[in-house]
Amino acid sequence: MVNYARLLQTFLDLIRLKADSGHEEPVVQYILPRLLQMGLIVRRGAEGRAENIVAVLPPTPGRDRCIALSAHMDTVSLPTPVIPIIKDGVISSSGNTILGADDRAGIAAILEALETLIEKGLPHHCIEIIFTVRKEIGLEGSKQLGHNDIQASMAFILDDEADPGHIVVQAPSHAKILWNITGKAAHAGDEPEEGINAIMASAEGLKRMKTGRIDHETTANIGIIHGGVATSVVCDAVVIEAEARSICEKKLEDTVKTMVEAMEKGAASLGAKVQTRIQKSYRGFTLKEMSPSVQWASSAIRRIGLIPVLISSGGGSDANILNEKGIEAVNLGIGAKKAHTSEEYILKRDLYTLGDIVYAIMNGA
Ligand SMILES: [Zn+2]
Repeated sequence: MVNYARLLQTFLDLIRLKADSGHEEPVVQYILPRLLQMGLIVRRGAEGRAENIVAVLPPTPGRDRCIALSAHMDTVSLPTPVIPIIKDGVISSSGNTILGADDRAGIAAILEALETLIEKGLPHHCIEIIFTVRKEIGLEGSKQLGHNDIQASMAFILDDEADPGHIVVQAPSHAKILWNITGKAAHAGDEPEEGINAIMASAEGLKRMKTGRIDHETTANIGIIHGGVATSVVCDAVVIEAEARSICEKKLEDTVKTMVEAMEKGAASLGAKVQTRIQKSYRGFTLKEMSPSVQWASSAIRRIGLIPVLISSGGGSDANILNEKGIEAVNLGIGAKKAHTSEEYILKRDLYTLGDIVYAIMNGA
């Protein structure tokens, strides 16, 4: 068992730090001295421009494996600092802000588990800690990690909203689609027949498109639409941003292709032109029950008296990026509920369980 009082204090310290994506420095300044004091070898932004923290706790004699644990240091946009309140075992934000348990609960659990492990002087393998930046704006920090930055063969990411004890073994691939639809401007009252309305052309494309849940593995969404300058002008330019996700790479490709064709056909029916850009954001992953990282996490969860639950996620995390880089990674439930909203909360009990799970992972054979 970890020290719950110290874990809670670390968590509360961390969520009071205002550090959204790209402004992680307050969290870095909090974490670094703690890691150094514990005797970890700390590297920052080892490769690339991202200021991730990679820290290593060398193994005790006779242990020759290397595992990594990771959490992200940023939160989604945070205009004012968080004021936490604890009531009936629930930690939430008292103001109109997120709580930031996503992902400060993960960071706090890692720091606490390390401290307990070192205090108790127990044997352990090499432990690498990866604290990433700019996760919430497209997994940017983990994408910057170089191959030489990480020695571990498996990684445990602490960043899923499920309850502690849940292991994300499957997550989708993700692609973004950007469309520029170009029509022709004209005076809406004097000569509307001279114009080609890009908004109407976009609508023709969109109505030919299937979005939402495409099948049990695939989703699609139109997220942003911009266009028009005045009601008196036939709109000549629209920009649309959309996305698709699928557990299956082939289905993702097919879905994107179908969406692009729908937009091209629809816009062409009114004489508008379409320019399409497709960005692959990250690749999906699927791990089996017998995969080493799943076995390792499951065994840790069982040792603290819980039953591991393997789940599939609809979202991306740093686990997607590490798997893509060849490091087998699972994402673990941290229990931060309603993340990215002002209703975000975490149960004190779940925070403690998370600390115990992380400790059991570090302490695994
Ligand atoms: Zn997160």
